[in-house]
Amino acid sequence: MNIILLGPPGAGKGTQAKKISENYSLPHISTGDMLRENISNNTPLGLRAKSYMSRGELVPDELLITIIKDRLSRSDCSRGFLLDGYPRTIPQADALQMILTESGRKLDVVLNIDVDDEELIKRLSGRRMCACGTSYHVIFNPPEKEGICDTCNGKLYQREDDKADAIRNRLVVYKKQTQPLITYYMKKNILRRIDGSKDISAIFEDIKTVLENYD
Ligand code: ADP
Ligand code: ADP
Ligand code: ZN
Repeated sequence: MNIILLGPPGAGKGTQAKKISENYSLPHISTGDMLRENISNNTPLGLRAKSYMSRGELVPDELLITIIKDRLSRSDCSRGFLLDGYPRTIPQADALQMILTESGRKLDVVLNIDVDDEELIKRLSGRRMCACGTSYHVIFNPPEKEGICDTCNGKLYQREDDKADAIRNRLVVYKKQTQPLITYYMKKNILRRIDGSKDISAIFEDIKTVLENYD
């Protein structure tokens, strides 16, 4: 299965992606995690991406397209993949289409996780991250030990872009640059809406029901 998880910042893409990836043995490809890893390793890519990310702006398309092309060519993607955070613009979606067509693949389904702005702000402002990619929430999804990751014992931190100013900007950027992808994939008849206002496990059940049709 070739899946895209679409949705605004804070919708729960990363949280659901972890569950889907484990349940269906699909590589979880999070461009946000890949960029953050480049930033912490001080790579040239990380240096270019950093200022955009801390302001809540999108990193330029050409960089993302290069990253995703390289990642999708790896052998672990040959039996399917789960994209989280890509595409975020129409040019990125067009580039993805080209990459897949060139390699004889196609998208199966785009899961659009729908959550209202007020809830997104609550989720983003209480989010705590681990370097391993797991995200928690101080109230909605706390770790067993405060400040410590359940899976790897890493120390949790708050993302720079999860502070108030950057959150507001990210929601504006989402509406302008990413939301048009909903119509883009609706026209291709592969978009499925997921009610993201439910709790984490109820959403995952809904996703499994949708994915049953693609096994
Ligand atoms: P969230 O899941 O909260 O929406 P991500 O971790 O997916 O955030 O992304 C964090 C930041 O990384 C984005 O605000 C943006 O700056 C950058 N980024 C990630 N993916 C992309 C992409 N596909 N195109 C452009 N920028 C991206
Ligand atoms: P995204 O990758 O879409 O930006 P995350 O998966 O990181 O979103 O989730 C954003 C925040 O909301 C995290 O703190 C996460 O623990 C929390 N969260 C995720 N799903 C839910 C949910 N269904 N209900 C309440 N909080 C949630
Ligand atoms: Zn961890």
